[in-house]
Amino acid sequence: MTTSRRPDVDALVDRYGRVATDLRVSLTDRCNLRCSYCMPPEGLPWLPGPQILTDDEVARLVRVAVERLGVTEVRFTGGEPLLRPGLTKIIAAAAELSPRPTLSLTTNGIGLDRLAEPLRGAGLDRVNVSLDTLDPERFTQIAHRRRLPDVLAGLAAAERAGLQPVKINAVLLRGINDGEAAALLRFALERGYELRFIEQMPLDAQHSWNRAEMVTAAEILAALRAAFTLLPDPAERGGAPAETWLVDGFARPDGAPARVGVIGSVTRPFCGDCDRTRLTADGQVRACLFATTESDLRTALRDGADDEELARRWRIAMWGKLAGHGIDNPAFLQPARPMSAIGG
Ligand code: SAM
Repeated sequence: MTTSRRPDVDALVDRYGRVATDLRVSLTDRCNLRCSYCMPPEGLPWLPGPQILTDDEVARLVRVAVERLGVTEVRFTGGEPLLRPGLTKIIAAAAELSPRPTLSLTTNGIGLDRLAEPLRGAGLDRVNVSLDTLDPERFTQIAHRRRLPDVLAGLAAAERAGLQPVKINAVLLRGINDGEAAALLRFALERGYELRFIEQMPLDAQHSWNRAEMVTAAEILAALRAAFTLLPDPAERGGAPAETWLVDGFARPDGAPARVGVIGSVTRPFCGDCDRTRLTADGQVRACLFATTESDLRTALRDGADDEELARRWRIAMWGKLAGHGIDNPAFLQPARPMSAIGG
């Protein structure tokens, strides 16, 4: 059902009855890897420093989101958020908010061996670490950096620091690591990590995504089922992007059933249940990963807007959220910004 007049409520509602409570905050567009599905080996022109929100500006916008807009979950991402010098301070500020949001981080894990403990101490609840392969050579082929040992050390440190459940994100690329689905799941199950496969999306800076080449959710599930028995997951999915299954015969260290997830953004879109709102490192609100428009909070903030004015602009931006990302629509336009600049 759609309605054209925005009801006078604080929450981030849209015309399709969805309410955004999950905020993704990009802290930088820079990254120390060059994953081929995200950016070219030579990197990208980074956002100029003065355009990037300061730590205090990020903390303020997160506060507005939590205190005025009903956001209950904040995930910090990038680019690579561990490259942001003020990360611990930003997390500590978010952890002081009331009601306290759940705080998580999506990271490639490089540096987490050093930072997991301080981040946990600052109030971080959970991490998602990206890991596409267990093979060092293949890792270098995909990410153009020889850093697999750093990622594995980061994962182990996250576990030791109690950032649990530790989740892993994996993207499978045809002809490169698509034979590794079962091995990645075994690796995760043996360590009590929760693995999620993400279908490759058209968000790479090079615009080289090709629907026909993409490894689909159905293919990933078939590869997993060849090695494991997957059972329906009785847990409510809610707005979660991943469809999850229980892995028969496996449990997490805390006794909970072991799960595996597949995020079928392209072939099994979940836009109807999307509860996400996004803030880029340069202070732009995006209603969707695939949005082609943004709402500039940075300028308003630097021009002296008060909290309620920032909240009002954010509400308007989300009211305009489209029904779906439209990847399957022949008129689909890839957003001008790549994933690394939007915040994945
Ligand atoms: N640097 C951090 C990391 O590696 O997790 C955070 C940012 S990264 C953009 C967030 C997630 O998006 C990663 O799990 C990455 O694999 C995924 N990702 C990047 N580009 C993608 C694409 N084109 N399709 C699907 N997932 C993508």
